[in-house]
Amino acid sequence: MAYDSNNIFARILRGEIPNDTVYEDDHVLAFRDINPQAPTHVLVIPKGAFISMDDFSQNASDAEIAALVRAVGSIARDLGVVQSGYRILANHGRDANQEVPHFHVHIFGHRPLGPMLQRE
Ligand code: 5GP
Repeated sequence: MAYDSNNIFARILRGEIPNDTVYEDDHVLAFRDINPQAPTHVLVIPKGAFISMDDFSQNASDAEIAALVRAVGSIARDLGVVQSGYRILANHGRDANQEVPHFHVHIFGHRPLGPMLQRE
């Protein structure tokens, strides 16, 4: 599967669609989710063109991977969710209902987040 350069996060990265940025560095952009599932719901994305965790973990440079992981921790601290707790989540593919085909890590916080997954 090829990267779709017209996906919504690619368009956000190009500045074609506004976003509520909470963090940015050379490799990473983070912004608030447009349809938040918790009082705090932030998406952390690499600036590089990676479809999902599968693509990112194979093809991103060590610097890009380190930057994303460091950013997630740093953003969580800045959002003030470390003490109360937070959840990170990344969907890959159909069974996980990945909607946007640009790798992203969700950060949820500021409410009790319930069980990790719904039982069927
Ligand atoms: P996924 O299901 O792919 O893991 O999550 C995609 C997320 O992107 C969803 O939580 C959805 O609300 C969010 N989203 C989709 N379009 C936009 C947008 O245009 N702006 C922002 N900030 N978030 C978006």
